Amino acid sequence: NLSEKLDKALHVLKGHGQITEINVAETTKEVRRALLDADVNFKIAKEFTNRVKEKALGQNVLSSLQPGQLMVKIVKDELTALMGGDSEGINLSGNPSVILMSGLQGSGKTTFSGKLANFLKKKKSKNPLLVACDVYRPAAIDQLHVVGEQIGVPVYSDRDNNDPVAIAKAGIAKAKAEGHNVVIIDTAGRLAVDEKMMNEISDIHKAINPQETLFVVDSMTGQDAVNTAKAFNDVLNFDGVILTKLDGDTRGGAAISIKSVVNKPIKFIGTGEKMEAIDIFYPSRMADRILGMGDVVSLVERAQEQFDEEEARKIQKKIAKNKFGFDDFLGQIQQIKKMGNMKDLMGMIPGAGKALKGLDIDDDAFKHIEAIIYSMTPDERSNPSKLDASRKRRIAKGSGREVQEVNQLLKQFDQMSKMMKMMQGGGGKKMMQMMSG
Ligand code: GDP
Ligand code: MG
Repeated sequence: NLSEKLDKALHVLKGHGQITEINVAETTKEVRRALLDADVNFKIAKEFTNRVKEKALGQNVLSSLQPGQLMVKIVKDELTALMGGDSEGINLSGNPSVILMSGLQGSGKTTFSGKLANFLKKKKSKNPLLVACDVYRPAAIDQLHVVGEQIGVPVYSDRDNNDPVAIAKAGIAKAKAEGHNVVIIDTAGRLAVDEKMMNEISDIHKAINPQETLFVVDSMTGQDAVNTAKAFNDVLNFDGVILTKLDGDTRGGAAISIKSVVNKPIKFIGTGEKMEAIDIFYPSRMADRILGMGDVVSLVERAQEQFDEEEARKIQKKIAKNKFGFDDFLGQIQQIKKMGNMKDLMGMIPGAGKALKGLDIDDDAFKHIEAIIYSMTPDERSNPSKLDASRKRRIAKGSGREVQEVNQLLKQFDQMSKMMKMMQGGGGKKMMQMMSG
């Protein structure tokens, strides 16, 4: 993937005391190849690397003390600039503020409608209403209702009406009547760009004149994403882009291309199927991620948001006193489960992506871990060091797992305790150093 490729390309420079013009040329060539592999448009990739090369030579990379680091910085800064400046929020000036979702079928509109409603409710104390305008698939209406229920946000739908424009208008009227200050309109997409879909979304757009029109795109669609973005932008002149499914293996080639082609800000990213898996888009963090440094800041933020602070403080004390036990570990698992799936989270840790490839970390893995912990006595849970071979055998039997798995869990637990201690003492710095290798 792109991050690995860039990693490799930049590795040549990292730590090298000397750098030659040939070196710069070779590195930029590698960077370009990496961008192309990540489905970045050829022209964009070429312009990008030319700019990097110019900057590198202009800033006298060749004679600087740490040319590798300077080069990495130039690539990162350029990448950040390419994906947009500072993140721009959603326009919430209307009363109600109307937000229209657009995009192909399967891009993640319905899921994101829910995530955004949840986000605005929690972060901005808004009182949103979701409106179901996908009239072609009854299941789509059901889906939005399920989402609404999950996050405690009401959904307006009208199964007897097959005119999305009328439903959208009725939804806004209902919001006004009932005092909702945000209305999120979920629409129908089709598998590919066609006239019918474009006419329909354009009709809705004209009829309701939303404060914010968002284009939702699956980040895994690569080059096609650019063409789709262009088609929607030609018709809607949308305000922002939502990049979904960034939890997968893709590394944001789409982000780079779309921003360059339609010149609209990417506002949010989707990083999982759960309602909490939404993040504000920060170009510099995305650049870090693309460059393989991992999105540590997002990870930390997300963790902070979900962890009960009081609980966290208690745990910190325990870690400091070496009293962190399996009961606490169980509590942590519950928290992690709330945050989204394990792979998403681990994927944000630098270096972990590679290590986890091929490993099957699904939520089922938690069930096994929980079973093992439940088979321990309270005393064993607080004093894992007591677990000798015979105790391990008993626990394995009790939980219906293999002794090997018990051992593995103990090892993981041990590593985790160490890591947490490190995060505490010496702050995040040590952790970052360890992670970035
Ligand atoms: P729509 O047709 O545009 O409304 O798309 P949906 O919201 O129904 O999403 C299509 C599929 O993608 C569903 O299975 C979602 O659970 C999934 N999905 C949406 N966003 C994300 C995301 O950020 N990450 C992952 N892994 N899956 C997502
Ligand atoms: Mg949908």
